[in-house]
Amino acid sequence: MFYTSTRDKTLRVEASEAITRGISAEGGLFVPTEIPKVSLSDLQDLIPLSYIERAKKILALYLTDFTPEEIDYCVNGAYKAGKFSSEKVAPTVKLDGSASILELFRGPTCAFKDMALQLLPYLLTTSAKKTAPDKDIVILVATSGDTGKAAMAGFQDVDRTRILVFYPDNGVSPMQKLQMVTQEGENVGVCAIRGNFDDAQSSVKKIFTDKAVGEKLAENGLMFSSANSINWGRLVPQIVYYCSAYADMVEAGEVKLGEPMNVVVPTGNFGNILAAYYAKQMGVPIAKFICASNANNVLTDFLTTGTYDKNRKFYTTASPSMDILISSNLERLLFMMSDGDDAAVRGWMDALSKDGKYTVPDDVFAKIRENFAAGCADDDKTFATIKATYEKDHYLSDTHTGVAIAVYNEYVEKTGDKTPTVIASTASPYKFPKAVLTALNGEAPAIDEFDMAAELSKQTGTVVPPQLASLKEKKVRFDNVCDIPDMEQQVYDLLHI
Ligand SMILES: *Cc1c(COP(=O)(O)O)cnc(C)c1O
Repeated sequence: MFYTSTRDKTLRVEASEAITRGISAEGGLFVPTEIPKVSLSDLQDLIPLSYIERAKKILALYLTDFTPEEIDYCVNGAYKAGKFSSEKVAPTVKLDGSASILELFRGPTCAFKDMALQLLPYLLTTSAKKTAPDKDIVILVATSGDTGKAAMAGFQDVDRTRILVFYPDNGVSPMQKLQMVTQEGENVGVCAIRGNFDDAQSSVKKIFTDKAVGEKLAENGLMFSSANSINWGRLVPQIVYYCSAYADMVEAGEVKLGEPMNVVVPTGNFGNILAAYYAKQMGVPIAKFICASNANNVLTDFLTTGTYDKNRKFYTTASPSMDILISSNLERLLFMMSDGDDAAVRGWMDALSKDGKYTVPDDVFAKIRENFAAGCADDDKTFATIKATYEKDHYLSDTHTGVAIAVYNEYVEKTGDKTPTVIASTASPYKFPKAVLTALNGEAPAIDEFDMAAELSKQTGTVVPPQLASLKEKKVRFDNVCDIPDMEQQVYDLLHI
């Protein structure tokens, strides 16, 4: 199997090269030239397997230039016992009615990013051995809060890699910030920027594809790669858990083998929900993808009108990992929905960067509408949903998951669609203790984050994840802040070149 680019479909590279490069030279994203299939009996065969064994089977279909030994090594390392707080790695929990929660936050940093970023360092170092054996890899990350920490946790002290993280100074929760600035490891660097996530992401993309910067790195034996969800190595691990969730839904008797489920995903960069769409293309029975946004509802509007327009107010919300107006992975969906029309994709992406908007033609939009529904919830609605879900189902959700549950409830009310549904839960409530306490009680006491976490634990009888509680004792290692134009210099400083 080969990978091509959404902006140049004549390109052919193997999985290892797509993963090492992160983004294609002309700015497009790597996508598989064909999507491997799983049959219903393949899905049934997943049921008795552990998550690790399920992952090996699915990943082997996409990473066709990896040997079975390499896949074993990568997957065994990523999901080994003790790293995730559930033996099932990504368990499902049944709520009242037709919905089950797919808990993707049981990893080392308490966000769903761990599902991919525990595996990516293995995929990337294995790929780099094949494609760039003489270079050390520099990972540049723009983060809206969770990616930065999860990426550093994955890459910490991984041989022949360095990782540099930029986050919006006022755009992450205090717990998220503490997680990043206390990160240990000889190969990590962190810098706050004066700007929002989209500013950080655009600037990282620019540095990343700048020829002169690339040459300077090469002179020092270095090359860039990406741990953002534009990297295929981030996306492919996420396909696994939708296949796995379907097997679990069948095993739990929630769906019969072959019958469809719906999937609800709290969405930012469109990576997580796109992974679910790949699972459907493979043969996993999924009827609808329900895309949930917060007040930054650019995707809700796109999925209901066919026009993507980022010219709008940017809101800082209680679900910061979804505070995004440019959803990079949508480009991959557009490529698929236009039957691989790379010229059209280039046109839309040019329009997006020039005018901040584009409209897709009716036939493309019709295909999108067939699969995707969308909705949004502001902070008030999200808080009310967190409280109601806790009181009704005794399930405590974080703010991002709260957005998803709110949008799902509204979807069911509007459509009457009772299809068994999996709602992706993307973070531990303890990453956002102030917001969650406010949701439950109408206010949060004026105490520090750790005391709030303790209070939340006392009130709900749930446990503070030890990796968050222990941040209190950790030393702050990074306190630098820079302006957007200075990010390139920061890269050189952090790399000492
Ligand atoms: C990153 C993130 C999201 C958004 O995921 P995308 O793949 O970017 O759509 C949602 N919730 C949480 C907690 C996240 O960290």
